[in-house]
Amino acid sequence: MFLSGKRALVTGSTSGIGLAIARALKAEGAEIVLNGFGEEEEIAKLCEELDARHSGADLTDPDAIEGMMADAGGVDILVNNAGMQHVSAIEEFPVPKWDKIIALNLSAAFHTIRLAVPHMKEAGWGRIINTASAHSLTASPYKSAYVAAKHGIAGLTKTVALEVAQDNITVNAISPGYVWTPLVENQIPDTMKARGMDRDEVIDQVLLAKQPTKKFVQPEDVGAMAVFLCRDEAQNVNGANWSIDGGWTAE
Ligand code: NAD
Repeated sequence: MFLSGKRALVTGSTSGIGLAIARALKAEGAEIVLNGFGEEEEIAKLCEELDARHSGADLTDPDAIEGMMADAGGVDILVNNAGMQHVSAIEEFPVPKWDKIIALNLSAAFHTIRLAVPHMKEAGWGRIINTASAHSLTASPYKSAYVAAKHGIAGLTKTVALEVAQDNITVNAISPGYVWTPLVENQIPDTMKARGMDRDEVIDQVLLAKQPTKKFVQPEDVGAMAVFLCRDEAQNVNGANWSIDGGWTAE
């Protein structure tokens, strides 16, 4: 239980990868603050399971982020994970979707980080982990906002890593390939439309086509890497972008 006494805020942790990260950090003793949307009853169950608090802050709204950070109190481990996707050709890409994806997948992390760092500096320890994506390193068509935001978070990760390098705070990104979560499930219909494919073709020819292992990444794989990044042995892992993509970005 090497994280006993540490408080972890995991954004977008009512589902998918964020929930797996929250569970993995809890298993090592961290106090968890959940964030994200969902059914009230489901969220209450998660809070009970993880003995956690929950913030329903909409992270596309900087004021709501300020409120969440103030309510959370000092955060020792910050995981910026909330994210969304939209699949569309550039000339039809809805402008409000672009703005929302940039706000959630990129700007939200800027706000949480700027608000979390003062406590981490004071405490003399901190871990910032950003769930980026294989799309922080490479592009796919029809995902302009997502790819732009994820490349942005890779740059933000490196920049802040340099700024806090002597404060015993590390800042790293984890970049999964395709993980079977609602985010992936929900993009199948639009991808079918954009590419004129059926569901099985999207899974085989678009999603798993990217991953040389032909396997979806498991949310728990990402949780385990987040735990490693919190260990003392990872104190010199800083500004890195860790791929868990079955070899996708090695090609
Ligand atoms: P998911 O849809 O299962 O979970 C998204 C989480 O974000 C949920 O908890 C949701 O409630 C929350 N959320 C959505 N909009 C929000 C908002 N405005 N404010 C606050 N919370 C909000 O998705 P996931 O697949 O677990 O994705 C998590 C992260 O992992 C995202 O950043 C995503 O880009 C990244 N990622 C996912 C995959 C994948 O294949 N699933 C691959 C690479 C990276």
